[in-house]
Amino acid sequence: MTLSLPKYQDVQEAAERLRNVVHRTPVLTSQTLNGRLDAEVFFKCENLQRVGAFKFRGAYNAIARLGKPERDAGVVTFSSGNHGQAIARAARTLGVTATIVMPLDAPKAKRNAAASYGARIITYDRLTEDRELVAGALVEQEGLTLIPPFDHPDVIAGQGTAVMELLEDVGGLDAIFVPLGGGGLLAGSLLAAHAMAPECLVYGVEPLAGNDGQQSFNKGEIVRIDPPRSIADGALTQALGEYTFPIIKRYAHDILAVPDDKLISAMQFFAERMKIVVEPTGCLGAAAVLRETVPVRGMRVGVLLSGGNVDLASYAACLAHEF
Ligand SMILES: *Cc1c(COP(=O)(O)O)cnc(C)c1O
Repeated sequence: MTLSLPKYQDVQEAAERLRNVVHRTPVLTSQTLNGRLDAEVFFKCENLQRVGAFKFRGAYNAIARLGKPERDAGVVTFSSGNHGQAIARAARTLGVTATIVMPLDAPKAKRNAAASYGARIITYDRLTEDRELVAGALVEQEGLTLIPPFDHPDVIAGQGTAVMELLEDVGGLDAIFVPLGGGGLLAGSLLAAHAMAPECLVYGVEPLAGNDGQQSFNKGEIVRIDPPRSIADGALTQALGEYTFPIIKRYAHDILAVPDDKLISAMQFFAERMKIVVEPTGCLGAAAVLRETVPVRGMRVGVLLSGGNVDLASYAACLAHEF
């Protein structure tokens, strides 16, 4: 079976759909950092996006693309993190009912946030039940449409609009660093960058403890790993997707991996120097640049800050961490 992969045109169409719906997030710079690296670094602040992460883009685009019967029946997803919040919020904006499948022991804050957007919450026991089967049963029984967190053409196209805006706003870049989980954000970014700035080197950046993407990229086929442990909770995927991997394999320049302590230093840098809250996963691309994993000297560099949702106690602990 050959899949119909999304193209740059789909990103452009997504951008039309998202106009006046998503925030055109700001691009920030730090003179101190530029001086230290002898480079020009542009941070695209999706931590300031609606629901606090770029995921709103893909979620809205995917739901907006549904026909009337699907919209009337409603959508379902099994993510309790940023994608779940984004689906709940985007569905509400479009007048569609959302169902979020969450583990019984999901943090109260996440449950309450999804519920406050009017989503129906269905819980499952993570020790005895499989979330995909629970969601699948709802698709069967109630005719809901499943919107997965990354492996979906409309989700990928929506995510690509962030890098599209970045390139529109700052012009040509030599390199872009993008956090990598399942690859929806990276695949969309690659479609945009390949069309708008073909010479630009695009890197995906993963947590070192969960570097399945790096292994897959190097091997040329999807590698599945055991559930990883990292503070980058938005990038704990075990494998890239059927849609995301071919795009990454074709257009990514390389996949890098950074250890958790570098994510903590990056969070501290953003709080102290730039006065912004960035969650651990949101720091992946930045951490690769801050620690100069690859040389950036003399370059114009884009960094995608993918999200800013972190509970206050763990944020405080990260800020207080001494090296
Ligand atoms: C989901 C998420 C990612 C990873 O995105 P993928 O499309 O799964 O690669 C990165 N950062 C944040 C903040 C996220 O919520």
